[in-house]
Amino acid sequence: MLIKNAVIEGSQKDIRCGGGFISEIADLLEVRSGECVIEASGGELLPGLHDHHMHFFATAALQRSVDCGRSNAPSETGEQTAFVHDAESLGQTLANYSGEGWLRGVNYHESIAGDLDRLQLDVFVSDRPARVQHRSGKLWILNSLAVEKLDLAAHKNLPGVEVDKNGMPTGRLFRLDAWLGQQLGRQDPIDVSVLSHQLASFGVTGFTDTSATNEATTVKQFQEMHERGGILQKAYLMGDDSLDSGHLKILLDEDNLPHLNELEARILCAREKKRGVAFHCVSHIELLFAIAALNSCANLDPHAQFADRIEHGAMIFDDVLPMLQALNLSVITQPGFLYERGPQYQKNLTEYELAHLYRYQRLLDAGIMVGLSSDAPYGPLNPWQVMKGAVERKTSAGDVIGPQERVTPEQALIGYLSDAKAPGGAVRRIAVGEQADMCLLTRAWSGVKADLSQVLVAHTVVSGELIYSRTEGVDGQRD
Ligand SMILES: [Zn+2]
Repeated sequence: MLIKNAVIEGSQKDIRCGGGFISEIADLLEVRSGECVIEASGGELLPGLHDHHMHFFATAALQRSVDCGRSNAPSETGEQTAFVHDAESLGQTLANYSGEGWLRGVNYHESIAGDLDRLQLDVFVSDRPARVQHRSGKLWILNSLAVEKLDLAAHKNLPGVEVDKNGMPTGRLFRLDAWLGQQLGRQDPIDVSVLSHQLASFGVTGFTDTSATNEATTVKQFQEMHERGGILQKAYLMGDDSLDSGHLKILLDEDNLPHLNELEARILCAREKKRGVAFHCVSHIELLFAIAALNSCANLDPHAQFADRIEHGAMIFDDVLPMLQALNLSVITQPGFLYERGPQYQKNLTEYELAHLYRYQRLLDAGIMVGLSSDAPYGPLNPWQVMKGAVERKTSAGDVIGPQERVTPEQALIGYLSDAKAPGGAVRRIAVGEQADMCLLTRAWSGVKADLSQVLVAHTVVSGELIYSRTEGVDGQRD
């Protein structure tokens, strides 16, 4: 493959790939017979983007789910989406969702219609099996038909299955994603190719799936989908204790913290397999707990393959910065949340907390490695939207949260350019000998950096193979 007239860091070049790598870069390269040629017309050629934290299957499932936090119809003010705010609008939203078979709702919050259980959900949907996920990701609520389909009564002793005073399942399942996924697997298969194509259209050539429930069968599923062409990107997986590679994902919940010695045992076990550890830390308490656990299991192996990671680091106070730095931790942040969730943060958090929310620039100043990510399906999938969030930190109401944490467009881009195994570490470049994972923009970086949400990707290449090409009129629409 030959890419002609692309801009690389300010100068126009021709780039040739072979065997999955970049083989030549020069001012002018002659076309060889039979060679695939891409005319870049002065568009910027960048290394492919890597989303350092997302949940691939959940995002694919979301693409055919009802968003219970929004109604899908245009609102009176003409916006494409309006917030679902009460039981009536939730009922309408669910009832309006066409199709048959399982109905899947996400992004539910009790401020909409209280604590849902099977009977309340039946009021909204009773003619097809339905399941609704709480916005926190911790809880699923099933209607009666879904409870029947899954034969939940036979599983009522499973930890996480809530029962009423008569011992009958209420339809509420806590932290049972893996079990639910297994039960639903054959009843409700997911097509992932649409999502993979969408990621390719954003220039994403790799992603890290950070789901704590990933296990050997998930790894196999990813491999098979990759081989069959359903997944076009390079996927790096972390997961549960049973895996032999990839980070161990540890979910911390400040309302239900584990015993420190149990946690240490899990970390040591991961260390023996040369696995890194990734902590889900949203609150200050969770972060301190993770640091305490890591301090007592200091990584003594100087050849450890992977640095340990803090996922989200939503709340990081100044006194914690040196501890993160001393442990050589990467923080995987998601400033993409600030736009949509901003007004809610402003309502629920103190000024002090807001100033320490999803920090970025001060982490860099403190010498901490920072990787950027979507946390899709919970945050916006589009990396350019996330980068814009990192640069502007604006809420949907136009306020700026934590202005001191804004970064330059270049820095935001770098957040997506480090290696999967070292988020915030060395930046991948367009250079001879590098892997040919690239995205070609329609314009030079200098022309688009002022508004990253307007970036358009012309072509995306993984291992020297074209996985996406923009066709006007079809992909011209932005979402
Ligand atoms: Zn996540």
